[in-house]
Amino acid sequence: MAKNTNDEQFKNVISHAKEYGFVFQSSEIYDGLSAVYDYGQLGAELKNNIKTYWWKAMVQMHENIVGIDSAIFMHPKVWKASGHVDGFNDPMIDNKDSKKRYRADQLLEDKIARYEKDGKTDKAAKLQADMDDALKAENLQLLKTLIEENDIACPVSGTKNWTEVRQFNLMFSTQFGAMAEGSEEVYLRPETAQGIFVNFLNVQKSGRMKIPFGIAQIGKAFRNEVIARQFIMRMREFEQMEMQFFVRPGEDQKWFAYWKEARLKWHKALGTPAEKYRYHDHVKLAHYANAATDIEFEFPFGFKEVEGIHSRTDFDLSQHQEYSGKKMQYFDNDLNEEGKPYGNYIPYVIETSIGLDRMFLLTLINAFEEEDLSTEDKQDSRTLLRLHPCLAPVKVAIFPLTKKDGLPEKAREIMNSLKLDFNCIYEEKDAIGKRYRRQDAIGTPFCLTIDHQTLEDDTVTIRHRDTMEQQRIEIKDLFDIIGNKVSWKNLLR
Ligand code: ATP
Repeated sequence: MAKNTNDEQFKNVISHAKEYGFVFQSSEIYDGLSAVYDYGQLGAELKNNIKTYWWKAMVQMHENIVGIDSAIFMHPKVWKASGHVDGFNDPMIDNKDSKKRYRADQLLEDKIARYEKDGKTDKAAKLQADMDDALKAENLQLLKTLIEENDIACPVSGTKNWTEVRQFNLMFSTQFGAMAEGSEEVYLRPETAQGIFVNFLNVQKSGRMKIPFGIAQIGKAFRNEVIARQFIMRMREFEQMEMQFFVRPGEDQKWFAYWKEARLKWHKALGTPAEKYRYHDHVKLAHYANAATDIEFEFPFGFKEVEGIHSRTDFDLSQHQEYSGKKMQYFDNDLNEEGKPYGNYIPYVIETSIGLDRMFLLTLINAFEEEDLSTEDKQDSRTLLRLHPCLAPVKVAIFPLTKKDGLPEKAREIMNSLKLDFNCIYEEKDAIGKRYRRQDAIGTPFCLTIDHQTLEDDTVTIRHRDTMEQQRIEIKDLFDIIGNKVSWKNLLR
């Protein structure tokens, strides 16, 4: 029952996102391109605001973190050094009847969730442990055996007629250079992090950065996901907001704990209920990591990763040192406890990596509400997005009460005085009530109505989205009232 409600809520969010210009399927008129999406006029604004929130929190609020913007194309050797060419694989399995392809580990995870739901905790724990072993040892045969032993059928055909499990590399490749012959195979980056690692020395030297320091970046990443589902949760082209924090060897666990806490705080500052978030500490660690945790959010389809915090050791810089032949070392002239200079070393790295699109989806789901406004005499409801005012795509909607008597001119005058600082929208069609509802649906925190009294005493009615409360205020106070509510100070301190 609860599942249906969640499914329904998720469907409503998806159709709302389309109806109001937040997210569209890519190339929709050609029936779309699987797992690729476009952000519409309001989606682009919301996305920018989420980026700004992250950038301010990471770069502007930390004197020792700087931001860069590296290219999507990188030298092919980068992906050899990083391990992506040989190791960035998903184990996949096909059902011979439905011809559908699945990630073997996800079929097993779904089964584990079902065991847990049915109270079969022993079975769930055993399967989890066996799966972890199989993944760690890259034992594809064992993955298939686990699928068979646990009676997993294809959700489409209902049969257990499976192929072998095979590794599938997730990187997209393309040809670099105009000539077919002699052109080189390059990859679309599957993560933004490597653009930071290869620029470690450039930034450190040109910015005279002292350890510990961080480099942040927001940008596109591409992964040829075996299965792409759940709207913008798993896309083939998506955006990441990543930060690599370079620290002294031996201080990595301290900084890992710091960033684990700091990043959850960033999420919670938006007012998301605390119980919607949890950490998922990794037991099975990637070869380059000595600690890792995910920040998970409870989506309508269950708790899923939004952000990863990884202690990546000196793996990446060491690999680039080896593959490029260039020293990736830092000279530390600070003293250690024994009073000796640290000298040269390859720094350790703590990474925070959040998917912008998943954060966008989380934000929409969290904000979406169908509020019952019925009274004893009348049935009524409204759809609204309770977005944090800092994230709202439009901050102020400006409505002249009527289209005559100089009200539009006065409304435009007010809009002109605000629009440089706040994203404004002007609307003069339809009754005021209807105009309010349209703004509720896109999350606009303030609506201003300009009426005949405005012309006499320079006051307007301000209407608040969440409470629907209306107040008469002086035009000269507008800037402060709105400015206080949408100030980044409310989120960042
Ligand atoms: P998953 O296990 O869900 O595939 P991951 O562990 O591979 O994710 P990372 O490589 O740690 O993900 O990437 C960091 C972040 O990038 C993730 O927390 C997620 O928010 C985002 N991300 C990764 N893959 C995708 C994708 N295909 N579509 C959208 N966002 C993604």
